[in-house]
Amino acid sequence: MSLVAQMMRLAPDAGDPLYVETFLRCKLAAHTTGRHHDLVWQLDDSRQGEMWAAWADGRAPESVLLLPDCPAHNGRSDQNDEACTLFARHRGPHSFDLCDPEIEAIRATPEYGRLTAEIDALIAAWRHRVQGTS
Ligand SMILES: [Zn+2]
Ligand SMILES: [Zn+2]
Repeated sequence: MSLVAQMMRLAPDAGDPLYVETFLRCKLAAHTTGRHHDLVWQLDDSRQGEMWAAWADGRAPESVLLLPDCPAHNGRSDQNDEACTLFARHRGPHSFDLCDPEIEAIRATPEYGRLTAEIDALIAAWRHRVQGTS
C-alpha cells in the first residue's frame, strides 16, 4: 500500500491504481548482486515509461521508480519483431533473450502446443475471412 501511495505521488494521472501489481517477481535475468526490479504499473501513456519497484534480496520493495522503456528490439522482421519489455539501461540480457523457467515449462506441455495450433488456425481463418474477397 505504501508503494501505491508513492506511485500516486510520482504520477497522479497515471491511471487506475487498482491495476498496480502487488505480487512482485524480478523480471531481470538471474543475478546475485544489485537490486531486483519488477514492473508494477503500466501507465496509460507509455511514452512516459513505466513504474518499477526495486528491492534488495529478501527485503520488501523500498522504492518505486518511473523508468523509461528499454529501446532494444530483437531485430527480426514483421511478426517476430519483439521489443524488450524491461526498462532502459537494465542489467543483464534483454527480455527477448531471457528464458523464464516457469514459462518454458508451460511451453513444453502438450496442452500449450495444442492451444497455439488452435490459435494459429483461428488467426488463419480470420485472415482468410478479412482478406477473402480481395
Ligand atoms: Zn532480480
Ligand atoms: Zn532491454
